Amino acid sequence: MANLKGKVIIVTGAAMGLGLAAADVLASKGADLTLVDYNAEALDKTKADLQSKYPESKFLTVTADVSVEENVKNYVDETVKTFGKVDGLYNNAGIEGKQAPLIDYDINIFKKVIDINLLGVYYGMKYVIPELQKNGGGRIVNVASVGGIRGVSNQTAYVATKHAVAGMTKNAALEYGKDNILTNAIAPGAILTPMVAEAFKQVNPNDPKTAEKEYASRNPTRRLGDPMDVGHLVAYLLSDENGYVSGQVIAIDGGESNMY
Ligand code: NAD
Repeated sequence: MANLKGKVIIVTGAAMGLGLAAADVLASKGADLTLVDYNAEALDKTKADLQSKYPESKFLTVTADVSVEENVKNYVDETVKTFGKVDGLYNNAGIEGKQAPLIDYDINIFKKVIDINLLGVYYGMKYVIPELQKNGGGRIVNVASVGGIRGVSNQTAYVATKHAVAGMTKNAALEYGKDNILTNAIAPGAILTPMVAEAFKQVNPNDPKTAEKEYASRNPTRRLGDPMDVGHLVAYLLSDENGYVSGQVIAIDGGESNMY
């Protein structure tokens, strides 16, 4: 399923969490990858681990802050220089910001969340789409969140930017479908990554494990998601086996967003 042999895919936020898990699944299906992150040390470790697990895949690392437009242009240029083309983008890097009620939200944190979650995703599409057009098409997966479909208390900046990602995804699908570029967003619920572990610390600094268990107990599956669950969905959406899904915001949350 989802053979990616010969495909060149860029993964942002690849050093840990959902980016790392997706990179693992994509490499397991034969893709060559550009791994992008602003944490250079963790990125090097990710590359070394994946290279020893998947010796037949090629890995390029580019240290970049996705909120800086020149950094984004550079990761795309480096990919084309190394691999000669781009077939897909997993536009995943993002941050949660700090949890606070709307009227108390720190404006500097709000702006940082916009720069990374909204503009970082926009720049990724801006510089990758022309390469996909040259290549006869391709696939893009942007990372929204269930917070891109619904409200989440105390996360105004996060929810605003993730709704924006859902909106930009629909526009990209409309504008570039004619070029055989299919663009989708995924909307994960709570998937156990370092970002979510940090969120449970904010909810209950003294006992984050209890906060985690309480959260999981409300999910129809009674568990949090595994990053590899998300990686498999991403691999399908980035493959040629996805021939006609575009402009969708696909929840991957154990069914939780259907609850009343
Ligand atoms: P994480 O914090 O565990 O990993 C994020 C990675 O992105 C890190 O390696 C970090 O260094 C990198 N990164 C952050 N900002 C960056 C920047 N400006 N430039 C380059 N790299 C940057 O987070 P995660 O849980 O894996 O989340 C990944 C994406 O999934 C985010 O967009 C997040 O909003 C989204 N998401 C996660 C969940 C979840 O439950 N984990 C749910 C919904 C959405």
